[in-house]
Amino acid sequence: MLTPKPHLASPNGGLPSSVLWAQLMLKDRLRPGDIAVDATMGNGHDTLFLTQCVSPGGHVFAFDVQEAALIETRKRVPAEMTTLIHAGHETMRTHVPAELHGNVSAVMFNLGYLPGTDKTLITHTDTTMIAVWEALELLKPGGLLTIVVYPGHEGGADEGRCIADWAAALNSRRFEVQHLRPINRAASPPELWVIWKRG
Ligand code: SAM
Repeated sequence: MLTPKPHLASPNGGLPSSVLWAQLMLKDRLRPGDIAVDATMGNGHDTLFLTQCVSPGGHVFAFDVQEAALIETRKRVPAEMTTLIHAGHETMRTHVPAELHGNVSAVMFNLGYLPGTDKTLITHTDTTMIAVWEALELLKPGGLLTIVVYPGHEGGADEGRCIADWAAALNSRRFEVQHLRPINRAASPPELWVIWKRG
């Protein structure tokens, strides 16, 4: 008899990657009709994932500084469910309509650079830190913020340390924070931060 494949696994059967853990948690909590933000659109895989979680009736706002990201993502995602914004995520409070502030169910960050493209178009600590504060303001009570950081990328270690200091200092009466990272690898693998805004 075939052993059923585990659901919480990477394609090789191993433990989920940081990105997969983030998706699993978001999938569990997002509902049709919800509003979500993809703060780092890239090729649109996460934007598509979010639209699937909030369909039907929901909407996803997605950000990237690269025009190429918008072109790639537009090919993937349903136009009526997405607003693709060619701007840095540090401006998300300006671009997400004011009536949705405090009503966003999830914000997803996948920091670093887009594999296979210009590695200088990387997220930067100063703008990332503005954006994560803005994300917390947009979230509704019970909403989820996920941040995948890449300490092995150029500038990623500094970005990771800043996220760690920021997350550790969040008021525990308002936010629950978890940090997930592979522990027995020599390189610096991606890490996940999950922040839940208390309901
Ligand atoms: N979520 C993407 C996907 O599914 O393909 C992968 C994201 S990739 C790791 C990081 C992306 O962040 C790059 O496309 C990069 O252009 C973008 N980026 C860099 N700085 C940014 C900023 N200030 N605001 C929004 N996106 C930014």
